[in-house]
Amino acid sequence: KKVLDIQEIRKEFPVLDQEVNGKPLAYFDNAATTQKPLQVIQALEDYYKGYNANIHRGIHTLAERATKAFEETRVVLHQFLNSKEKEEIIFTKGTTDSINLVASSFGRRFINEGDEIIVSGLEHHSNIVPWQILAEDKKATIKVIPVLDNGELDYEAFEKLISKRTKMVAVNHASNSLGTINDLPRIIKAAHQVGAKVLVDGAQATAHIALDVQSLDCDFYAISAHKFYGPTGAGALYGKRELLEEMPPYQSGGEMIKDVSFSGTTFNDIPYKFEAGTPNIADIVALKEAVNFVNRLGKENIASHEMNLLKYAVEGLSTIKDLKLVGTAAEKVSVQSFIIDGVHHFDIGQMLDARGVAVRTGHHCTQPLMESFGIEGTVRASFAVYNTVSEIDSMIEGLGRIVKFMK
Ligand code: PMP
Repeated sequence: KKVLDIQEIRKEFPVLDQEVNGKPLAYFDNAATTQKPLQVIQALEDYYKGYNANIHRGIHTLAERATKAFEETRVVLHQFLNSKEKEEIIFTKGTTDSINLVASSFGRRFINEGDEIIVSGLEHHSNIVPWQILAEDKKATIKVIPVLDNGELDYEAFEKLISKRTKMVAVNHASNSLGTINDLPRIIKAAHQVGAKVLVDGAQATAHIALDVQSLDCDFYAISAHKFYGPTGAGALYGKRELLEEMPPYQSGGEMIKDVSFSGTTFNDIPYKFEAGTPNIADIVALKEAVNFVNRLGKENIASHEMNLLKYAVEGLSTIKDLKLVGTAAEKVSVQSFIIDGVHHFDIGQMLDARGVAVRTGHHCTQPLMESFGIEGTVRASFAVYNTVSEIDSMIEGLGRIVKFMK
């Protein structure tokens, strides 16, 4: 383990070096999207200035360079997630797109009337709504794993929910609203015992938790590049080869076919079967640099810095009058939600912004979770590798003043 030089790392993120409303920016909205280091920005520029071309079919030099760079990202992600084969990595627009791919394609082939799909009460809307649409289509049923008061899943309740009727269990690795890290080995083992498949929404885990899809033994794993220092609109789905091969195409058109004729069309092999149309080449090329960035710093070192920040923030937040922490699970990523009695979360967010502190407020695309806590929303501070203790001091000082002013 290595102690990271945060001031040096901050130099790689030009966007951080600015004032917002006359105060130094403290960016704590990393669970929504992280900022991008120079090497990611540079990769985008290099691509557009040097070798922009459409991939796979081109015979000319630029097309070959673009194809090579694009396919290199696949290899890098295959290593990053430790999939067995690189063909098990499908490029998508991100987590939402990856989950929709599975709900629509796996769902079309394998979910039937009377089947059950289990999601957790911690899920982001993007891991709820695709399953609801599928369930309605197929006359299947959705069951929900309840959430305990501290933000952990009720595993005993889960083990009672699961049955031979369960075909899919869709859960996140870490919760975007509360930060809870779920006990995936326990969930996956129980699911596999009844023959159900497991999709993991990895959006909030990728930047913080070491990943190994083979040892996890999940069936699908969905990620977004922009949550771990990469560009928006680029991400991936990992799926086990035997499942991906059985699944019908998701979208259709160019690239996903072998031969097209009006008497019948044959589909391409994986991963291309699931990559119809011209993909987001530039951002996928730059995604590789996000992985390189995380690997250079070391996820362990990143997580260790973030856990120090989280602990420091929780101590500071606990000194604020009438502030209640929401989400206090034992195992968390660096996300802390809170509410303050008698002050609306929007007002807190706005007043913090006036002091240069960027937090997120609202339901964080987890309305069912908020409902189960009997609240409308929270203020959420989420930390990344470039955040500092002094930025947290600004937030805590600001909150102290806000509470004084509002009451
Ligand atoms: N799941 C979780 C847990 C998330 O935090 C997010 C992004 N807020 C998503 C899914 C959706 O990711 P994207 O918008 O990149 O598709």
